[in-house]
Amino acid sequence: MKTYLIQLISSIRLSDLFDITIICLFSYVILVWFRKTASRFVLIGIVILGLIYAFARIFHLYITEYILQGFFAILAIALIIIFQEDLRRFFERLATWGILKKGSPAGSPYINAEVISRAVSNIIEQRNGALIVLKGNDLLGRHLKGGSSLEGKLSEAILESIFDPHSPGHDGAVIIEGGAIARFGCHLPLSANPGKFGNIGLRHTAALGLSERCDAICIVVSEERGTVSIAREGVLTTLKNPKDLSSVLEQYFFEKGPKSAGGIWMRFFGKNLVEKAVAIIIACGLWLAFGYQTESIGRDYVIPIVYRNLPADWIIKEQEPKKTTVTLMGSKQAFSLINEESIKITLDMADIKEGRQEMPIGNKNLQHPSNVAVVAIKPNKIKILAHRLVSIEVPIEVSLSGKLPEGLILKKVVPSPASVRVKIPEKMTRKIRIETQPVDLREITGTTRITSKLTVPQDIHSIEGGQQTVQVTIEVEEKQ
Ligand code: ATP
Ligand code: MG
Repeated sequence: MKTYLIQLISSIRLSDLFDITIICLFSYVILVWFRKTASRFVLIGIVILGLIYAFARIFHLYITEYILQGFFAILAIALIIIFQEDLRRFFERLATWGILKKGSPAGSPYINAEVISRAVSNIIEQRNGALIVLKGNDLLGRHLKGGSSLEGKLSEAILESIFDPHSPGHDGAVIIEGGAIARFGCHLPLSANPGKFGNIGLRHTAALGLSERCDAICIVVSEERGTVSIAREGVLTTLKNPKDLSSVLEQYFFEKGPKSAGGIWMRFFGKNLVEKAVAIIIACGLWLAFGYQTESIGRDYVIPIVYRNLPADWIIKEQEPKKTTVTLMGSKQAFSLINEESIKITLDMADIKEGRQEMPIGNKNLQHPSNVAVVAIKPNKIKILAHRLVSIEVPIEVSLSGKLPEGLILKKVVPSPASVRVKIPEKMTRKIRIETQPVDLREITGTTRITSKLTVPQDIHSIEGGQQTVQVTIEVEEKQ
């Protein structure tokens, strides 16, 4: 056991560590999201279906496998629709991550929390209502409608006067961003299931709605009841005492604001411990199953050769051999993950020459998964015969067989079109003829028009326009 562990640890490479870290982060993000998302039952359903599918494959339950396969094909689209909002939020966060780390809310968190909670106490005293949104890390723009921008310094006086029912802007929400009042009179999206938190009015439903869509915190002062409620991550809580607001806000600013090095570590070990542990177990498990290198094995793959950058007027007439054998070396797990189609040999044909030539095949022509090494490519060169094509006009000759019946004389045989354009190798010196298939004169009883197929000689590469037949008019006259 001990030697096994030593062997295991000593075989970990730097790239394995990166691999494990990235998988760990992904698993963690998915696990945390999974806990929060309202659609997690959909996900559980999919996992169950996945297990049934795996079971069906292992035990060869063909009908189940067949039906589930069809289902999985449309599942990808269904998932995008179901998790549209989550995906949007995820990509938005990913895109703004770097920017936000630098420009987190400015101003002292304690002063902001103080100013807001004092303004809220005054609003309650004046028996007014209020809806205040504190922006977190997520972008808010697409959730807000209407309102006016203010870009004003945060102060009690401004907050109170905005929510004074005599002011035209008291309807709607105030948005606080980076220690300043960014907008007021904004319309927030309503929650689709406000029933969870009792019989609440529109202001509370709007606060809840926004908190379901982003990481902002919404403070609601009820005009009817004089209470303060907080909506955060889809949960609405009414504070027992409005004075608690200050500490709730300080905590929020502390979490969202710029962090000192010590704070980051505290946060790292303090939050979502179960998810972090599970993510590490998943990442290490996957690495042991698929990435851990024990002994190496070699495997041969027969790979076709693909041409790249072949100019349009060139053709490769012959290639010998048609395929090459590539020997790769790696761990068993690495081979179990290989998709054979991802191994490719590509030759650059930009500098092709006329005639027979040899082309070397080296490692640089081979595309292969990075977790296996190339041992050999056999053969390491191919012979090809290349021709440059030119386009020429060739007349069509109608080929005739047999004799006309007694009493008829042949006057004219006219093919239409009279000629076709063909592509031939530039070096071809032999005269080119394009004939129709023989027209049997014995069957002609008067002037006729028939369709005849063209016979294309071997060395012609192609007929332009893809023409395959011609109309042949056979004009005859009766003998006098
Ligand atoms: P209160 O307890 O203060 O009465 P409420 O939750 O019962 O709050 P309503 O009485 O339905 O809410 O609405 C009060 C105010 O809420 C409205 O006058 C308006 O200013 C604000 N409001 C309503 N809908 C929205 C919305 N979608 N976004 C922002 N503010 C809104
Ligand atoms: Mg009301």
